[in-house]
Formats: sequence, C-alpha cells, structure tokens
Amino acid sequence: MMFTSTRNNNLSVSAAQAILQGLSTEGGLFVPQQFPQLSVETVYQMDYCQMAEKVLGSFLTDYDPQFLQQAVKQVYGSAFGTKAGYVQQVNKNTWSLELWHGPTCAFKDYALQMMPKLLVQARTMLSSTDTTVILVATSGDTGKAALEGYRDLEGIRIKVFYPTGGTSEIQRLQMATQQGNNVEVYAVEGNFDAAQTGVKKVFADQAIGQLLKEKGVSLSSANSINWGRLVPQIVYYFYSYSQLVKQGVIALGNPVDFCVPTGNFGDILAGWYAKQMGLPVGKLICASNKNNVLSEFFATGVYNAKREFFKTTSPSMDILISSNLERLLYHVSGGNDTLVAELMDSLSKTGSYTLPKDLLEKIQQDFAAGWADDQQAADEIKHRWDTDGYLCDPHTAVAFRVAEQTAHTKDAPCVVLSTASPYKFPMAVLQALGCPVPQQDFEALRQLETFSGVQAPTQLKELEQKPQRFSKVILPSDIVKAATEEISAL
Ligand SMILES: *Cc1c(COP(=O)(O)O)cnc(C)c1O
Repeated sequence: MMFTSTRNNNLSVSAAQAILQGLSTEGGLFVPQQFPQLSVETVYQMDYCQMAEKVLGSFLTDYDPQFLQQAVKQVYGSAFGTKAGYVQQVNKNTWSLELWHGPTCAFKDYALQMMPKLLVQARTMLSSTDTTVILVATSGDTGKAALEGYRDLEGIRIKVFYPTGGTSEIQRLQMATQQGNNVEVYAVEGNFDAAQTGVKKVFADQAIGQLLKEKGVSLSSANSINWGRLVPQIVYYFYSYSQLVKQGVIALGNPVDFCVPTGNFGDILAGWYAKQMGLPVGKLICASNKNNVLSEFFATGVYNAKREFFKTTSPSMDILISSNLERLLYHVSGGNDTLVAELMDSLSKTGSYTLPKDLLEKIQQDFAAGWADDQQAADEIKHRWDTDGYLCDPHTAVAFRVAEQTAHTKDAPCVVLSTASPYKFPMAVLQALGCPVPQQDFEALRQLETFSGVQAPTQLKELEQKPQRFSKVILPSDIVKAATEEISAL
C-alpha cells in the first residue's frame, strides 16, 4: 500500500515514510491510494488485538507483521485493561462506545499509544539516525496522551506547551506530574492560540531548521494530521459494530449509525475509512459545539473559519480549522489534487472556501451534522443521568444531543463515540447535574463519585498525591528558546 499527498498525486510514499514525515512537503496530507477491503463476516469474531492487527496490517504493508502483532498486543492488550473498544448500551436505540479506558482517560490514547511505536519502527526501517523532537501545543488531551505515548522512547524527545488558563486543573496536573526522562512540559502565559502560534513559529523558522539539521535533529508533530494517528482509530468502528452483532442487536450486514464529537475531523474520518473498507455504516453524524464551522459546512458547502471563536466546556472541540477534512475532500473528488490545493489555498488566504455542489451532495450521502452549545450539553448530561443512569463528559454530551436531533438510518442503532471520562471535567459535570460545585477539582471528583456511585479512574485520583515535576511558566516569546534549548548545546 502506497500513500500520496492530497495536494500532489505525483507523490507516492510508503506508510513508514508517511508516518515519519507527517506532512507532505507542499503542505498536503498523506492518504492511502486504495481502500483495503475487510469483510465483517470474516473479522467480527476477532478480539480487539486481532482486529487491530488486521486493520493496521492492511494499510501498513511495509511493516513487519510480527512487529505489528507485538505492538497491538502491548497497546490494546494491556494499556486498556479489558476495555479496548468497550460498548455500553445507554437506552433502547443508543450505545456508547467508551474510548476513555486508556492511560490518560481520553480517546486519543488509541492513537497516541500506537503511533510512537510506529514512528520508532519507521526510523529503523528508513535508517534514520536523527533525534526526533516532538513539539506539541495542546489545550489538554493531546498533550497528556502524547507524553504517555512517547515517554522514554529512544531517539525521541517530547516537549509539550499548554496555556496557563486553558485546561482543567486535572488536565494540568496530568501533564505537570508526567514521568519519563525525555519529556519536558511548559505552561505558556496566555491562551491556546498563544501556545499554538509559538510552536508553529518554531516549525516555520528556516534558520532553526538549518541549525537543527546540522545537529542531527528533526522536528515532528503529534497532532492528527499524521496518518499514524488515523489508522488505529479505524479499528474501533469495526470492533463496536461486531459487538452489536454478537449481542444480537443487529444482523450481520445491517447498518449502524455513528455519532462523533468532532474537532479536527480525525476521529469521524476514521469511521468514513471504515465504511470505504466495507463496514456497513449508515450515517456518520458529525457533532460540533458552538464552534459550529462543520455543521454549517455540511449544510451549505461553505467552509467559513472567519468567525468568532468560543471557549466552551468541551475544549477539545474548540477548533475552527478541521485539518482532516482535507482528506475527505480529496477522496470524494476522486483524487482531484488541483481542486484540493485550490480550496486549501483559499482557506489560508481568505479564511473560507466553497465546495462544488456535486461534491457536497456526495458528502451528504454519508454524513449528517449538528451542534449543541454549552447549555444544551449540560442539559444533556443531566438528562442522560436522570433517564438512563448514564454519566458522560461534556464532549460526549454534545454528541448525545446531536444524535437525538438528527434523522437516522431506518432501523439502525446509533453508536455514540464517548471520547473522555467525565472525571476529567468533574466541575462541569457536577454543575450540569445541578449539584453545588466546590472550589477544587479533586473535591469535585469525590463529590461526583458519591453522587453517581461511579468510581473515578485510579490514574486521575492518584494525581492529587503525585509530585509536580514541571512548574515552569514561560512567555509565548520564549517558546522558541524552550523548544531548542538543549539542542543548541549538542
Ligand atoms: C480530540 C478530542 C475530540 C475531537 O476529536 P477529533 O479527532 O479532533 O475530531 C473530541 N473529544 C475529546 C475528548 C477529544 O480529546
């Protein structure tokens, strides 16, 4: 299987090259040149590891199958306990695919536990001797998941920058207490944009790039534009479908709808890939918060990022540029790299673009979309608890709400992707439930446990006692220095 760029069909690279490089040189994203077919009849009996081996193996054909078998065992066999791809029925027609039973309690673990292994292997396969420095600007979940995934890996260093005012206290402590000898965590004075802009500056600075090259260092990013982050996410669509078949909810071959809380469009796109591979998916329902660029796009074909940015209770979905949408545009246009390059150029120059009508109609066959604001998400948290006894976080609540408002495929059950543990956001969840909210996150966490009778994940409770290793607060203007610090001394 070879990969090409969404903006240049003449490129053809191996999976290892796509994963090591991340982004194509002209700015495009790497996409597979075919969709391998996977019949549900043959895979639905498999356990999670076997299924992951099958899906990863069908795209990463240049990787040693034995390596992949080992890697998936290490990740999905142990890091997720027994709950990789766990599906919980919520009410008559709705299931929750709980993707937060991994080490950092958010769905990003599925990709960020696996991708570092794929990257290290790619370095070996391509005989790369550079030190890889991963730079991450994060509003919360990505930073911690990346730190856990990349810690103590040989030849790799990781530096994470988070905004002082942008994360929940629990999210902050998850990063400030991080273990590992190749990790660095910085709080940046300001909001997420300040951190993000600072990190982008490092990537774009040619003088720095040259200096790093001379020292044998290459920079890389951990965000979801890398193919290595997308492919592990395809697995749980197949797996959850299979669970519904095994439980007798659907007959093999009948459709299932999936509703996905969406930010950068990575998670939901993995579902679209699953459909192209042969999974009987009805509608993919794209759920946004008040930053509703995507639901507008699916309704009108106009992608307009020139709008007010809202900070919401679902911060991991506070995104105006959903990078992975570019991959969908490429595929539905039949691989029209010229069109994709034009649209992306328009987006970066004018902040918007308009999709040709025939392509919009094509997309609308597969996707539905909607959005919910903070109040609606809070109402939904309370409603799900009161009527179904089911506790969910604000991101998942957005998806439940949108799933309810949206027309479904006839007779199809709906699987909602639950992307974070409610205990990562105990203040917001307690408040939504109508409880008095204490001053402190761990107090809120305990009260939420008492209220709901649902235990919080141990790794979150333990944070309260863990020593904080990283307390440095820097100015946005110091990010370049922090990113290159010990490298200049090499
Ligand atoms: C990252 C994240 C999302 C959005 O996923 P995308 O792949 O960026 O669309 C949703 N919920 C949570 C909790 C997340 O961390």
